[in-house]
Amino acid sequence: MVNTFKVSIQTNSILASRKKPYQNRFQNFKNLMGIEMLETAIESIETIIVDLPTIRPHKLAMHTLQHQTLVIIRVRCADGIEGIGESTTIGGLAYGNESPESIKTNLDRHFAPLLLGQDSRNVNAAMLRLERCIRGNTFAKSGVETALLDAQGKRLGLPVSELLGGRVRDSLPVAWTLASGDTDRDIAEAEKMLDLRRHRIFKLKIGAGEVNRDLAHAIAIKKALGERASVRVDVNQAWDEAVALRACRVLGSNGIDLIEQPISRNNRAGMARLNAISPAPIMADESIESVEDAFNLAREGAASVFALKIAKNGGPRAVLRTAAIAEAAGIALYGGTMLEGGLGTLASAHAFVTLDRLAWDTELFGPLLLTEDILNAPLVYRDFELHVPKAPGLGVSLDEERLAFLRRDKTATHVQSA
Ligand SMILES: [Mg+2]
Repeated sequence: MVNTFKVSIQTNSILASRKKPYQNRFQNFKNLMGIEMLETAIESIETIIVDLPTIRPHKLAMHTLQHQTLVIIRVRCADGIEGIGESTTIGGLAYGNESPESIKTNLDRHFAPLLLGQDSRNVNAAMLRLERCIRGNTFAKSGVETALLDAQGKRLGLPVSELLGGRVRDSLPVAWTLASGDTDRDIAEAEKMLDLRRHRIFKLKIGAGEVNRDLAHAIAIKKALGERASVRVDVNQAWDEAVALRACRVLGSNGIDLIEQPISRNNRAGMARLNAISPAPIMADESIESVEDAFNLAREGAASVFALKIAKNGGPRAVLRTAAIAEAAGIALYGGTMLEGGLGTLASAHAFVTLDRLAWDTELFGPLLLTEDILNAPLVYRDFELHVPKAPGLGVSLDEERLAFLRRDKTATHVQSA
């Protein structure tokens, strides 16, 4: 649904004539109804659900992906600038509190009326306005913040990373997740990735199966890859603390480098106990649903590593607040993903390249898991790293023809380009 333009009433201040030139930051214009508007006002917000198949079933403890659903957000501004963003989760409601459908409904019904007519240049003010009126919904907020940053970057001719303070690197090492569910197939997949020089960090999704089988699976993969690769596991909260106490010891003493979210996000004291005894560091992922969660985890010593995810913090700017808490507490950082497509992946990447220390690198491989792309040019993965564009905004554009064909409410029945 495209929200039609709603007029925000801008009364001319009686103080306007007393303003000094530098105070007159906003150049206004009159719309078709003769009402004065900000030239950079948000004119419309469009949300589009896109379903894209994955290259293979992707098995997680709580869900198996056969396709990924993206929510694409388009923010059109009165000066003709268009910002694009993405709000993506995993497995409907299997991972988080927001589903693609709820994200779209909430953006259309609750976010858009708050944003229409607002100054698209002031990302801070726009996001604060949302924060005051809308609780939670960080996935939806992240997509909006991304689109506003993309618009402002295009307007100023700067990449999003520069709007976030400036990049300190141009590329990010990227892990690959082995999640076929089959040990031999996972080893073959890892070998292929090493040969292609695409990944040398591998994360195994375990927790859905019987624990001893999962441990044997992880150890077999580490044994096959040896020192050529870093092997880590993500349990996605599947174990209880008693199981995790034993399993973390076994994994850590068999070369597994990192153990992600072994137990429920609600058992923070248990996470702290595991973090104290585990030979491999414990990483918090689901435990962090907000910046405040990150602070509490840091205070309680419940993890040695934090997974940074823009979707769970409310955007590329917001995630840097979690990073700052971790840095102050001496907690290492990892650049996480919600298996976003190209837009969400680059939104994360622009934030992550502003960080000096990202000790556990990133897992920004979402677009590589999908068989289709809705961008005009694919993201650049080379020599084990994702290379972050320097063009204005996110640095990419939508392939409108493919988007029209692939969107759930299909507006084209075929696509010309291959
Ligand atoms: Mg995880």
